[in-house]
Amino acid sequence: MNRRGLLQGATLIIPFLSGVWSWVLGPARGQGAARSASRVRPGDSAWPSEADWNQLGRDVGGRLVRVSSPLAACVDAPSSAACAQVFRDLKNPYYLGDEVGLTQSLGWVDAWTSRPSVYAVAAQTTDDVVAAVNFAREHSLRLVVKGGGHSYQGTSNAADSLLIWTRKMNRVTLHDAFVGAGCAGEQAPQPAVTVEAGAIWGHVYDAVTTKAGRYVQGGGCMTVGVAGLVQSGGFGSFSKAYGMAAASLLEAELVTADGTPRIANACSNPDLFWGLKGGGGGSLGVVTRLTVRTHDLPEFFGAAFMTIKATSDAAFRRLISRVVGFYSESLFNPHWGEQIAFQPNNVLAIAMVFQGLDQQQAETIWRPFLDWLAGSPQDFSIESEPWIASLPARRFWDPGFLKGLPGIVLTDDRPGAPAANVFWAGNLGEAGQVLHGYQSAWLPASLLQPDRQGSLADALFAASRHWRVSLHMNKGLAGAPADAITAATDTAMNPSVLDAFALIISAAEGPPAYPGIPGHTPDRLAARQHAEAIDRAMAKMRTLLPTVGSYVAESNFFEPDWRDSFWGANYTRLLAVKDKYDPDGLFFVHHGVGSERWSADGFTRLVER
Ligand SMILES: Cc1cc2nc3c(=O)[nH]c(=O)nc-3n(C[C@H](O)[C@H](O)[C@H](O)COP(=O)(O)OP(=O)(O)OC[C@H]3O[C@@H](n4cnc5c(N)ncnc54)[C@H](O)[C@@H]3O)c2cc1C
Repeated sequence: MNRRGLLQGATLIIPFLSGVWSWVLGPARGQGAARSASRVRPGDSAWPSEADWNQLGRDVGGRLVRVSSPLAACVDAPSSAACAQVFRDLKNPYYLGDEVGLTQSLGWVDAWTSRPSVYAVAAQTTDDVVAAVNFAREHSLRLVVKGGGHSYQGTSNAADSLLIWTRKMNRVTLHDAFVGAGCAGEQAPQPAVTVEAGAIWGHVYDAVTTKAGRYVQGGGCMTVGVAGLVQSGGFGSFSKAYGMAAASLLEAELVTADGTPRIANACSNPDLFWGLKGGGGGSLGVVTRLTVRTHDLPEFFGAAFMTIKATSDAAFRRLISRVVGFYSESLFNPHWGEQIAFQPNNVLAIAMVFQGLDQQQAETIWRPFLDWLAGSPQDFSIESEPWIASLPARRFWDPGFLKGLPGIVLTDDRPGAPAANVFWAGNLGEAGQVLHGYQSAWLPASLLQPDRQGSLADALFAASRHWRVSLHMNKGLAGAPADAITAATDTAMNPSVLDAFALIISAAEGPPAYPGIPGHTPDRLAARQHAEAIDRAMAKMRTLLPTVGSYVAESNFFEPDWRDSFWGANYTRLLAVKDKYDPDGLFFVHHGVGSERWSADGFTRLVER
């Protein structure tokens, strides 16, 4: 492991001296710089001197951090109380988010391991970001951007890099009538919210829904970062009604590779605006703030949970068939989102959410399915009783209200943590996880037609013999209102999403672990077995699919044809945007746009464009 990276001391260095606008000499500043064939690492003669770093520290008002990982305590003393505490903390997503040297996932066996950067700019202003971008470009550094730190692909960490960390840029401002810069007279004013890039969705929902009674389209997981999610496309529990987060974007400010802050909206830099909507985080520039539209809040949000075990394979196959039919008849509409999972032990886990239905309406919808189950007690046992609850929508993300519901949320248990720091109990497993495998695919709505439902049920059953597979109904726009679909057509996403009724995901993970820490190393043998099982499961699903498309944010690190899979026919246009704003490839992420020209670690340019 990279002990050097782990053991670097974490100190805030260099007091504030001056702002950084003096650095910004105009858009052409970076473009005359020599193009390097490789980036610089610590120890290389071209690595910036102490004086250079000190200057950067002054330029960012002292917000330059020498990065270390808390896991360093475990490398030196794996049995110590301090190490035990670190491993407890790794199960708190807020702790992970607040540590500059950590990421939500600690790695992915045979793919990547979370590594701290050498230095980070803990940015608080656009000027800080400008200074960091200029410094990285001028010194040929490997640059990384981290917001919420939830990348499954490990794209917000890299050894030997400079990190721009936006965690402290988290202001949220509501507007009654927002008009994008340069759009006056061209765009009607709209209710909207401006969010700085490092905010997380749970805090945005608290401001927009709990406090202001509006709806904003964000992610399902409360601790996912705003900028990463919007650039991925972005789906939340109610995306079947409100569409993708990216499609709600009205305007972004970002700093491009030449160090220029730019506004991207429908009227200014529209090509960049389009690329930010689903083109994937970390490839086009550093987003500093985003403005997304808000919607009227429906009266009710709610959930329907239940777990059913079939007593035989034949009964499970029958159950799958019924649930596919029931979904297609009763839930395939803007009211319903989230998941149905199919497990090898013949367990069906339903965790659906709804919007715009009261308690009685929701119960009435589920009655035929529950009656059908009750008619075959010899075939099905109820592992967890149906729980159907509708609640005032304004309470759905209200931390105070949620803490009163048993088992729904967990809290940030650090002393003095903000009361709003809650997260869904269902996301606990992902905190500090080490991924073993992860694959996804969009499933076309044609599979729900009566004559295809049998094939879909067969494939789900066959896949579930190998590994758990889950249908994420909110991550596909078929069944959504026409305006949500139209808005999504004007994004960089793979157009497969428009006609998908669900994203199927098959994944496996282990508990927090890290190479080189005795007693806490990742279980490589199990991980490889799980990855193979996922391969087999997803191969069964792919027999149904004419083309393979998957969701950039929730997909296979080893995706073979990733350009086509993530962006389809949009890739060529996306690459043109990349080449216009980042011709020298300052911004690199694994399987990001233009990354095919670089070595896997992003340090060596392989081909000129
Ligand atoms: C537990 C968990 C739950 C999830 N739930 C959902 C979900 O409900 N819906 C969904 O659609 N996705 C979900 N995802 C996927 C998630 O949306 C993506 O991983 C997203 O990119 C994470 O954004 P982040 O800011 O938290 O992550 P980061 O790891 O910080 O960033 C992700 C990528 O975006 C880049 N980036 C971050 N900030 C900026 C910025 N300011 N400017 C430019 N680039 C930036 C990073 O460099 C990186 O490449 C989930 C992931 C996890 C781990």
